[in-house]
Amino acid sequence: MAVLESAGSTIHFETQLAPLMNIIEQGKYSKVFVFTDGNTSEICLPVFREMLDDFSEFDLIETDPGEENKNIDFCIGIWKTLLDFEADRKCLMINLGGGVITDMGGFIASTYKRGIHFINIPTTLLAQVDASVGGKTGIDIDNVKNMVGTFTLPQAVFIETAFLKTLPERELLSGFAEMIKHGLIADQDYYQALKTSDYKNPAAEAIFRSVEIKNEVVTTDPQEQNLRKILNFGHTIGHAVESYALSNNPMPLTHGEAIAIGMVCEAFLSHRNSTLTAAELEDITTYILSLYPAYTIVPESFDDLLALMQSDKKNEHGQVMFSLLENIGHCGYNCIVTTQDIKESLNYFNNFYTNKPA
Ligand code: ADP
Ligand code: ZN
Repeated sequence: MAVLESAGSTIHFETQLAPLMNIIEQGKYSKVFVFTDGNTSEICLPVFREMLDDFSEFDLIETDPGEENKNIDFCIGIWKTLLDFEADRKCLMINLGGGVITDMGGFIASTYKRGIHFINIPTTLLAQVDASVGGKTGIDIDNVKNMVGTFTLPQAVFIETAFLKTLPERELLSGFAEMIKHGLIADQDYYQALKTSDYKNPAAEAIFRSVEIKNEVVTTDPQEQNLRKILNFGHTIGHAVESYALSNNPMPLTHGEAIAIGMVCEAFLSHRNSTLTAAELEDITTYILSLYPAYTIVPESFDDLLALMQSDKKNEHGQVMFSLLENIGHCGYNCIVTTQDIKESLNYFNNFYTNKPA
């Protein structure tokens, strides 16, 4: 369908992986590895093989699914596996899976023997619209997300909606939150178009637009000095809510569910501290709440959430920084907000779920 150039690496859309064989042949790689988790080797690898006419000249490296396995222990195991396979610096790693696989596979590849080539084939909506651009690789330390990693670009990225057919609804909704964010921070028309679309069936054109927006922002600011911070809209509060739920709730939130909560709270802060109008705040709130499951940010957690926001790695000089909407389609960054306003934004969210008939 289309191609996007992203700082020297190419993102291919809906090509049925056709250019991949060329890349492999032209790269004259000594070996090809495909890196998957237990689910994607079962569900996505057959689709991958079929697209490549039963291409089988690769070794499979499989890890356990789930964010809890995106850690250094698993990396050590995989570096050793690469050594056992006698992988040299001319080998290629193809990461086939969600964000866990593309983040961790990218990290393993970017550090093994000081760096080997890798290709990302994201198979979740979240990884397609978010992790596919920007060259961030990384792993978690003690459940703190992406604490160690590199900025390394893959040789290429392939986005195929065919992989999304098997993705559970909850995972689709998780990725959809980032698409809504892209509309809110950069493109009002795109946001309006998403509102009439079906998240269960994301169109390739919409995924393309999201990736294009992210690519424009990241290309302007590759090292996250300034403009890139707008991608953080919904994430200051969203990440805190996500981490808190991970450690305290039996049923943790997905990334997108947490970001949806964060976007409602930060839209409130945008109205209070920036120029977002009351009508825009209502529009955003109504739309997001119509999509995502009911949730309460328990008041006992407020202080822990504030502490988590304080420790966000994006802060500078110990000051919590927000990216706030100026209107739907434009976002500012480096906004400072009072603790009182943050708490009010959490209450604003909660008020939609309390005092309501069951
Ligand atoms: P992310 O949501 O960050 O992309 P993961 O890599 O953890 O995260 O993927 C979420 C879950 O979905 C994992 O259990 C993974 O194995 C599974 N998964 C990934 N791609 C697919 C797919 N195309 N179909 C079904 N399940 C998938
Ligand atoms: Zn995110």
